[in-house]
Amino acid sequence: MTDKEILEGVLDEFKKLAAIPRPSGHIEKISQFLKDYFSEMGFKVFIDDVQNVIVDAPPAAGFENAPLIVLQSHMDMVAVAADGVPFNPTKDPIRLMRDEKYLKAAGTSLGADDGMGVATIMFLAKNMKARGALRFIFTVDEEIGMTGASFLDEKYLKGAKYLINCDSEVFDELTVGCAGNVTMDFEKEINRVPVTKKNVVEINLTGLLGGHSGERIGDNRGNAITALAKACREIDAQSEIELIEINGGNARNAIPSFATCVIATDMELDTLNITLMNEGRSLYSMYDEEGATFSVKEVATGKKAIARGDAMRILQFINLVHSGTYAVHQNGEVETSANLGIIRTEETKIKISVLPRSSRDKKLDLFISQGKDLAELTGFKAAFSDKTPSWSYSESVPLAEKMKEIFEHITGKKMRIKETHAGLECGYFKKKNPHLEIVSVGTTNEEIHSPRERLVLATVAPIVRMIEETILEISKN
Ligand SMILES: [Zn+2]
Repeated sequence: MTDKEILEGVLDEFKKLAAIPRPSGHIEKISQFLKDYFSEMGFKVFIDDVQNVIVDAPPAAGFENAPLIVLQSHMDMVAVAADGVPFNPTKDPIRLMRDEKYLKAAGTSLGADDGMGVATIMFLAKNMKARGALRFIFTVDEEIGMTGASFLDEKYLKGAKYLINCDSEVFDELTVGCAGNVTMDFEKEINRVPVTKKNVVEINLTGLLGGHSGERIGDNRGNAITALAKACREIDAQSEIELIEINGGNARNAIPSFATCVIATDMELDTLNITLMNEGRSLYSMYDEEGATFSVKEVATGKKAIARGDAMRILQFINLVHSGTYAVHQNGEVETSANLGIIRTEETKIKISVLPRSSRDKKLDLFISQGKDLAELTGFKAAFSDKTPSWSYSESVPLAEKMKEIFEHITGKKMRIKETHAGLECGYFKKKNPHLEIVSVGTTNEEIHSPRERLVLATVAPIVRMIEETILEISKN
């Protein structure tokens, strides 16, 4: 087959997926579609209780003794639309647009993450004739807590020697490790007292770079919540403040790019502006930020202030909780980090969310233990999720070396073997079968999880060829 034939063949499969709404949490249709698709090909299909789809493709004649290889992708997608684009993610298909270089969607996310992984497997199932036994595993809800991978019965992984996860986003990078994480949620009851200071002002910190905490935490970006709390304490040191509310961030796994607070103060607006200007300078000197700005305006709010003691515990908590890189590997990649992602003030309580990640599971216990101490010292209640397991790079991965060699032979390009600081379902698979050799690969999908998501067409054929060639080599030996 030519590269063009491979590309068109895979896109034909992808089109079928794009027609089926499959946002996380709404997997019934896609799960049923894949069951029918592979049943019609004569393969054995199982659907488990959470609607993971498991397909067994028997070996071709002469390949009965080849080791079992698992190909795996997730079925759900982050379905989002640009502002003003009418889109019902549970009902509307993805409308595809194609140019020379990219496949995109009209005003919505594309679902190349991980529809391209699923389409690649569909294409290979249809077209690969000479091969040993394959098992395809399509998981549910990777994007909202990896429910499918976490639930998957380990019997589907036992007996397999290799697992190729098709959920990476850069075609010339081969991933052989990922970080685990734990969500830490803190909550504190607050008492309210009447405001006594003369000026009530809202302070906004906006324009920080932010970014995904699994990908950008090592880039020395500022955290808007931390920086705003620091500014509050600086103002307080000059003239005691009354904190009325403090809010910032959107998601645990996003570095907050904005934060806002309302305080009452006797400080004049001019002096306040100078103090904030200095805080801005201090932020620039500490982090690689360019567009961050503090702004202040007077506001009318009937709200009472948070009692002094409670307000100070909140600001101390933010000051003490770790956010940013915590440790790096010898190769300079981030090993352990934490992200203070969200703070919300309600009438009678304050809520804070933090997400530590580490490729050493034990270090997550360290954060849990620190979180408990910090909560106790500052009067917060703490709640921790189960840990998402990491997947370790420390052992050698012959499968990765083989695929790298094949990729470089096919494309004439170098392939980088790396570990990601984000989470991947592979952590669960490795935990369920520690003997599995696992790699993660994929086509280049840019700006995933956004309405600008796009697939780089030229990366499809090399990935398909690499996987095909790998299966063939393993099956022959
Ligand atoms: Zn994905």
